[in-house]
Amino acid sequence: MTTPAAQFKTDARRVAPDLRHRDIIQTAMGKYETVRDQRKSGFQDWQAARELAARTKFQAVNHLDQYLAEFARKLEARGTKVHWASTDAQAREIIFSILRQKNARVIVKSKTMTSEEIHLNSAMVKAGYEVVESDLGEFIVQLREEAPYHLVFPSMHLTRGEIKDLFAEKLHDAPSDNPEDLTMVARRVLRKKYLQADVGITGANFAVAETGMVSITENEGNARLTAALPKTMITLIGIEKILPRLADLGLFLPMLAVMGAGQALTCYNTMYGGPRQPGEGDGPEEFHVVLLDNRRSALLADAEQRDTLGCIRCGACLNVCPIFRNVGGHTYATTYGGPIGSVLTPHLRGLAQWKHLSDASSLCGACTETCPIKIDLHHHLLQNRRNGARVKPGWFQKIAFKLYAPIANKPALWSLATKLARVGQIFQKPVIGTAFDPAAAWTKTRDLPPVARQSFREWWRERK
Ligand code: SF4
Repeated sequence: MTTPAAQFKTDARRVAPDLRHRDIIQTAMGKYETVRDQRKSGFQDWQAARELAARTKFQAVNHLDQYLAEFARKLEARGTKVHWASTDAQAREIIFSILRQKNARVIVKSKTMTSEEIHLNSAMVKAGYEVVESDLGEFIVQLREEAPYHLVFPSMHLTRGEIKDLFAEKLHDAPSDNPEDLTMVARRVLRKKYLQADVGITGANFAVAETGMVSITENEGNARLTAALPKTMITLIGIEKILPRLADLGLFLPMLAVMGAGQALTCYNTMYGGPRQPGEGDGPEEFHVVLLDNRRSALLADAEQRDTLGCIRCGACLNVCPIFRNVGGHTYATTYGGPIGSVLTPHLRGLAQWKHLSDASSLCGACTETCPIKIDLHHHLLQNRRNGARVKPGWFQKIAFKLYAPIANKPALWSLATKLARVGQIFQKPVIGTAFDPAAAWTKTRDLPPVARQSFREWWRERK
């Protein structure tokens, strides 16, 4: 069986030299960077805003037990049913039991990465439910039977021409590759599904403890329809989404919009505090909130990396990551890709299987520099590498370090080794790019930096 590490390497090798892929991603990211920077300048002091956001999230995470209890109490007081799920399997079972109670057949969903984390769609489809993603990007990847490519832009790896062909094949309706025409096609399909749906499932961007309200931010209005039209609404939330106060949204909503999509504010920002109350014109008759742990409390116990629970899933660290931009979102084969995914996945799915993701980084620190919550991502990647080496060092690492340690510890041996490397390099030069190159795996796609002509000791000696 192929391991996740081997699959990562295979996929990265295939995607990285794909010029078409590179072109699509670079174009999309170029546009994103321009608008993001314009919008950031709308903040009076961006660095102060980051400081405040980091402190607020850290406070929320450090008092998670209190804030979660407050959030649940206030929601329940308005008639919401709050469920606690320790694992992904428990969360699925809770949702399935609601679907059974409601005799549900058609389920409409708005974008939720947490549901991707618990593999909800595939489980529901397997159980015979009709599941429709209502976010346009998610709708597209669902038609392709693919996972979302990116936390915020699920179908950013596709051209409009590819989407037109997809709609023609699957929906038999694709008047042109004009984005407006394609959106209208999706809208026609989705409007019917909203009306047929028995249950709507949403995620949440924030959970406000002070008021017991769920905050959902989106651009298409699909989450509103998902929440308002079916009689039953289920919201699945990771427990780390807590914010202490309603006023905190004044910072976090624009921050998420700016870093997520380069917008001052997303088009629709809605708060849900319970089912429809007497006298209200719309909203679900029944509202369930499922609070998911799924190893988050283990991360909470890790003082070194606890700050990662502050992540607001804006995707900004993916956008600036040179590795993500080259290998693409699907190569990670995890729910959360890019730098934050490489940090979180070993915690959520096991270090031994997923430690290779921490190697997929140049440790340039661009992720840390851009993160609005100031999560120290590249140091966390380094810590994961350290932890990974402790848990399960690879055979190559074991042999390499066994050979390297005595040489590196003896100056005379080290000096000899560097001299031999210089000589070896002379013989290697003519075979670079051929099958006889001993470093072919490296030189096939990169330059091999030459060994310095002179070591520091030699240079020092020469100058007496
Ligand atoms: S780690 Fe920071 S930059 Fe990356 S998705 Fe989370 S909040 Fe955004």
